[in-house]
Amino acid sequence: MRILIVDDSPHHLNMMVYELNKLGCSTSVAQTGAAAIDAVAQEQFDVVMTDIRLKDMTGLELCWHLRTAQGLRHLYLILMIPGSMTEQFHELVEAGADEFLRKPLDWKWTAARLLAASRVVAMQRDLERLATTDALTGALNRRRFLERGAEEFTRSRRYDRPLSVVMLDIDHFKRVNDSHGHATGDDAIRATVRACKETLRACDIVGRLGGEEFAVVMPETTPVNAFTAAQRVRERIAATAVPLPSGGELRLTVSLGLSWMTATDPGIEPLLARADAGLYRAKNAGRNRVEIEPQITLPRSLAG
Ligand code: GH3
Ligand code: MG
Ligand code: MG
Repeated sequence: MRILIVDDSPHHLNMMVYELNKLGCSTSVAQTGAAAIDAVAQEQFDVVMTDIRLKDMTGLELCWHLRTAQGLRHLYLILMIPGSMTEQFHELVEAGADEFLRKPLDWKWTAARLLAASRVVAMQRDLERLATTDALTGALNRRRFLERGAEEFTRSRRYDRPLSVVMLDIDHFKRVNDSHGHATGDDAIRATVRACKETLRACDIVGRLGGEEFAVVMPETTPVNAFTAAQRVRERIAATAVPLPSGGELRLTVSLGLSWMTATDPGIEPLLARADAGLYRAKNAGRNRVEIEPQITLPRSLAG
């Protein structure tokens, strides 16, 4: 478990790091609420253990901030309270805390509470995965893909960065199912996503929109680079052999449509619609190819 410890006393921090490492937890430390907020924005933690008294804010404010302002629903928040505190327990939980521990910490008690926390954290992570990914391929499901796409659109717009979208559909997939059965069809779908993930960058967002139709949002990617990436995906899939139960192998191709963000796009949806139009043209033009949407005028940097 990855734990962020927040306390303004270096002595307390050192002691806690020592004890938590003994319990097998990996730790980071922050001495102020602001530093804790930064650390959580940079890195994924399972648990935050914060003292209720910090220099720049109270532990309650920190919990409230992490929970509401940062929207971290899945972070397990533990407040460390003075041993003398006998009231306000309700307020601690209301502010977003999951647990509170009295100082000085009783390490046997703390270890048991952290074990309980690790169960909750693991369950939340499983639920999150089930709710956001597609069970067959591990790609993002449609809903989560559209959420992530919208986030990337907003970020790209705010910082004036390029953003490209690719829509992809397996060619003649009904024939695969009809000739080789659904299990092989499923293998082909998995192989397609694997080829995408192996070919694309880790920050590219791959989603399964429906049966054998996928989309990729490519942050920080100019149209020319996205076109190159789409061609690489196409070539990689065409070169992939899906083994058949009968002993032979199946060859696949995909068609792809490409679009990119323009100055007037109000959201990610028009980009997806244009990528879809490109995909449709790729199918009509003979499949196993990448098409861009023709109405889009090339950015000045690429024209001529
Ligand atoms: P085209 O080249 O025009 O795309 O032809 P196509 O045969 O691939 O046509 P289309 O994209 O419409 O085919 C979708 C087929 O995908 C229909 C459905 O039987 C199959 N399919 C959808 N979801 C799954 C799945 O999860 N597993 C399997 N095995 N097949 C699926
Ligand atoms: Mg198809
Ligand atoms: Mg389809």
